[in-house]
Amino acid sequence: MANSVKNTFKSTKTWSEKLASLYREKIEVESCPWCGSKYYIKYGRYKFTYRYKCKSCSRTFLPSTGTSIHYIHKKDTFIEYAEFIQNEGMHTLKFMCDNFNISPMTSFDWRHKILMSIPISTRSFKGIVLCNELSLLYSLKGRKGSSLETIGISRKQKILDEKYQSRLIIVNENEVGEIKLATVGLINRNHFDRIFKKRLNNVEKLICSEQSVFANKEEFNFKSLDIVSGKKKQKEISQKLINQETMMYMFKTWINNTMRGVATKYLALYANYFMNYVGKIFNPVDRQSFIQKYIWPFYTLLECFYESFITDHTSMVYSIPTKRKWKTSGNYYFDLNFKRY
Ligand SMILES: [Zn+2]
Repeated sequence: MANSVKNTFKSTKTWSEKLASLYREKIEVESCPWCGSKYYIKYGRYKFTYRYKCKSCSRTFLPSTGTSIHYIHKKDTFIEYAEFIQNEGMHTLKFMCDNFNISPMTSFDWRHKILMSIPISTRSFKGIVLCNELSLLYSLKGRKGSSLETIGISRKQKILDEKYQSRLIIVNENEVGEIKLATVGLINRNHFDRIFKKRLNNVEKLICSEQSVFANKEEFNFKSLDIVSGKKKQKEISQKLINQETMMYMFKTWINNTMRGVATKYLALYANYFMNYVGKIFNPVDRQSFIQKYIWPFYTLLECFYESFITDHTSMVYSIPTKRKWKTSGNYYFDLNFKRY
């Protein structure tokens, strides 16, 4: 595997052309990444592309400012890295370090920038929508000295305790599905509405399996299969519920085994990636990914967003902040719809 990767991807010349065409064909400018203004002008050339100047805030920028490749020195290698994930799926960080000759920190950062550049769907659901909840252990992976074990809570205690479960919601309309991080601890109607309410106005029925937490709690009042009329239709929906359970199982197995666990902080990103990947719509180097101009601010402010998620929407207490800081993070325009929690 290692050799084939090196042989296929190491032609620098081709990759520079590729980068040039990426700028030419896929990276567009729609607004100023610093202030969000639509009034900007071309302001000289820069390598394969133009520099722009904003008429509102007078700052200059490139088409890639704020995107996944912003502040990345080895842009060619980054594109190879992204295409590798697209074609081969996600491998361990160690595997990626060895194959692309990059440090563990770079590998970690690149992966997360790629995950952040996957668009989030905001479309409205229609017709019959299937819904379920899945739980994964609350995880502080990567926070030094912060694991629950070090504060005297064993893994076994965690598994048994409702409080230490990250709760995700899976929603399926036809074959297309989404998994969203809702809370840590017990889930309630507010957690669900925060994420989905606006998108369910055109839904005819919300169906869940009988075992689902949504079927057994009055506040949700979602319907089980028996309200669907007609034997044939019932059979069809029943099969879809089974498919949804299978998808949940695959996602959990992927997180726990293939990824060897994911910090709750990043879970929403991995969930979005997973559903895009299995739906065969994951493409980290297409136009849709480079329209995402908020990667840099999102990436540098993620810890702040995570803190407000934990504080406002879960029963956990935010503790042991990560120490990495970036000087420019607060300077960029950030569309709050881009937040993933
Ligand atoms: Zn501006």
